[in-house]
Amino acid sequence: MKIICVGRNYAEHAKELNNDVPTSPVIFMKPKSALLLPEKPLYYPEFTDDLQYECELVVRINKNGKFIQEKFAKKYYSEVSLGIDFTARDLQRDLQKKGLPWEIAKAFDGSAAVGNFVNLTPEMEIQKMNFQLKLNDETVQDGKTSDMIFHVDKIIAYVSRFFTLNIGDLVFTGTPSGVGPVNGGDKLEGYLEGNKVLTVEVK
Ligand code: MG
Repeated sequence: MKIICVGRNYAEHAKELNNDVPTSPVIFMKPKSALLLPEKPLYYPEFTDDLQYECELVVRINKNGKFIQEKFAKKYYSEVSLGIDFTARDLQRDLQKKGLPWEIAKAFDGSAAVGNFVNLTPEMEIQKMNFQLKLNDETVQDGKTSDMIFHVDKIIAYVSRFFTLNIGDLVFTGTPSGVGPVNGGDKLEGYLEGNKVLTVEVK
């Protein structure tokens, strides 16, 4: 499986990191070794002094596909959850300044935390969901999927032009504003439509 991520998919978040709002999706990937399964702790990596959380809606691909048309993209997923795109912001800033790839800042072990997946029911509209991230019981991110610049179906269509999508692949769809640092001992909890689906402790 692979983990496909979208950067800068919420205008307010692009602004908070002083990035331009993109005109086509910004895509990067994380390897399978980045996956942090539900309830597993993240050990603070030794190579960063600025580990940050980015809470995101995550879509699990349930059908293989290539060159998927946007109007058929909904047939390729049926479950969603929340995830945290953990980022070594200090490394990312240095790499960005030099115009270099982000992998060591974004794709390290444990950098793709996922929660428990929930089935999308016919009455749940993927672009009308809300989600929150709490850091030590305080809400630090409050997102609405309606604010995505590129909607999920558009992302799937775009990504599948370049990469075959396979069953089990995960798509991290970008973070809303409110990203920030974590420290050892912190507890992160993600709520999707009011239900807790994600817990990560930083050790
Ligand atoms: Mg992100």
